[in-house]
Amino acid sequence: MSARLNYSRSSVSSQRHYDRHKRDKESVKFYKSKAWRSCRDLALIRDDFLCQSCLKRERITPAEMVHHIKEFKDHPELALVLENLVSLCLSCHNKEHPHKGPVKETKKRKRVRVLKMSSNPELEDEAEES
Ligand SMILES: [Zn+2]
Ligand SMILES: [Zn+2]
Repeated sequence: MSARLNYSRSSVSSQRHYDRHKRDKESVKFYKSKAWRSCRDLALIRDDFLCQSCLKRERITPAEMVHHIKEFKDHPELALVLENLVSLCLSCHNKEHPHKGPVKETKKRKRVRVLKMSSNPELEDEAEES
């Protein structure tokens, strides 16, 4: 009888994620800190709990988070500086972080193809009959 240890596939792939995970953990810790929470509250109060980006476009949208203008991981010293904080709604915040992860010098040429939306003639025929 041979002892077969059944190592499953899972053990290999987890290592690669470790570094990023560690960095994430640091910021998670920060975002849970009391100092951050009170700073965030101050920013929200200053901004009237409204998304500042929407407000510039004369739209009133409740803020859903406070964004670091200079990112926390690049400028941790500005993490609790009110001038570096701005209240944003989720969709505006997503625009501030268009790519997750380090994406550099990828100037993607955006080719916008305009598809002509023509209605399906078959469907039209059916509609006419009924
Ligand atoms: Zn917004
Ligand atoms: Zn942000």
